[in-house]
Amino acid sequence: MAYLDTQLFINGQWQDAADGRSIGVLNPATGQEIGRVSHAGRADLDRALDAAQRGFEIWRDFTPAARSKIMRKAAALMRERAGEIAALLTQEQGKPLIEAKGEAMAAGDLIEWFAEEGFRVYGRLVPHRTTPSTRQMVIKDPVGPVAAFTPWNFPVNQIVRKISAGLAAGCSMIVKAPEETPASPAALIKAFQDAGLPDGVLNLVYGDPAEISDYLIASPIIRKITFTGSTPVGKLLAGLAGKHMKRVSMELGGHAPVIVCEDADIALAVKSVGGAKFRNAGQVCISPTRFLVHDSVKQAFGEALADLARGIKVGDGMAGDTQMGPLANPRRLSAMAEFQQDAVAKGAKLLTGGSRIGETGNFWQPTVLTDVPLDARLFNDEPFGPVAGIRGFDKLDEAIAEANRLSFGLAGYAFTRSLANADLLTRRVEVGMLWINTPAAPSAELPFGGIKDSGYGTEGGPEALEAYLNTRAVVIANA
Ligand code: NAD
Repeated sequence: MAYLDTQLFINGQWQDAADGRSIGVLNPATGQEIGRVSHAGRADLDRALDAAQRGFEIWRDFTPAARSKIMRKAAALMRERAGEIAALLTQEQGKPLIEAKGEAMAAGDLIEWFAEEGFRVYGRLVPHRTTPSTRQMVIKDPVGPVAAFTPWNFPVNQIVRKISAGLAAGCSMIVKAPEETPASPAALIKAFQDAGLPDGVLNLVYGDPAEISDYLIASPIIRKITFTGSTPVGKLLAGLAGKHMKRVSMELGGHAPVIVCEDADIALAVKSVGGAKFRNAGQVCISPTRFLVHDSVKQAFGEALADLARGIKVGDGMAGDTQMGPLANPRRLSAMAEFQQDAVAKGAKLLTGGSRIGETGNFWQPTVLTDVPLDARLFNDEPFGPVAGIRGFDKLDEAIAEANRLSFGLAGYAFTRSLANADLLTRRVEVGMLWINTPAAPSAELPFGGIKDSGYGTEGGPEALEAYLNTRAVVIANA
């Protein structure tokens, strides 16, 4: 499918920026410009704010059933259009078509789940202390217009989690989607437009991220901020939100530990976390990154993971047999080179990979390093790429201490056949999501989010709706 230029979506209309500015979009597999995306200025943002305010006044009065009907139609359209959307996504982001199609299909599941969950936003009646006829009510209301900021690694999924919960709760939204991957988010918004969402309820802008977040967060119209991206930017935006007393959800970076115990099923561990490590070329916030493997099985695990990495077919995501695409932008290529050189200089051993592939596109070899020292950048900064670092441990307590050493607390993985180990890991590993003896399988109905520097708030389960609701008390006495 031909790649399309992307416009802003404001008050139900697709439109160029008022001053005509646009940004080039590059295909990461070729480095070539494949299209352009409109660059919003202040005038566009003012129109989006105005639309979001009016959209909110309409949408908050839709019943859950009426909201659900439109959302379920949008979910069906996403599934129907998944093939076309995947082609846009792969061209702008790089991931293999099969992963891109999976992302578009999963959007349908998320929208549908939240469309149903919207029916279950309940208040409560609280008995009065002295007067039985006095009604004390607890009411849940939508917070108001929301500003959402989302990144390029899952251009559809990162947005759909926010808009599904926000719309089900009755909020309107302005989404600042990623400039590097704009067309697939636009296709998602179009599914809601075609499903009959009223004008102004959902607005989509692109431009200068800092300029847009500064302006929207300070606006009195915006009542809530939600951001997915790196921890440093998250802290910046949380600070701004605090200054303006706005509600906040933050889904930030991670550095997921993988603890492989002495008694683990090694084949299961390699298959589960190996597949997850190289999915989307490692550009996943819950990607396994620090592999902490019991000394007695470290060599066998390292060899098996390196074999898996060597067998991965890297190429243009549009080719049918590609298993891993390019990195999404040239910044990630230089980051991979730095992680690699630093780790090896500090004593890590390279088991496989470690180099750029070719001169065109942002291709990096699936890479496995072992005996990575704790002071290597790879064991401290989020790699966000196809690089696995292994180190050994003797006692499980040591591995748990290492898992908790960093300020991140997003995802974690562990492999063990012992119930006692599993119980200890459950209680002690400081992460928002822990998978034991299984690959990660996030779903709409489970909490999705981190603790510590990985952020706060969750984007799954009923708690995700709470993030878009105000809780108020109203007391009515007989006059
Ligand atoms: P970055 O920190 O520059 O940007 C991360 C995201 O934040 C991008 O989408 C960007 O557009 C947005 N952003 C940056 N400054 C902003 C601002 N002032 N206001 C609003 N949005 C802003 O990093 P990058 O080079 O794009 O990505 C690399 C790092 O980002 C990775 O190392 C990873 O830690 C993190 N990241 C995390 C996720 C995630 O799913 N949690 C997704 C993408 C990137």
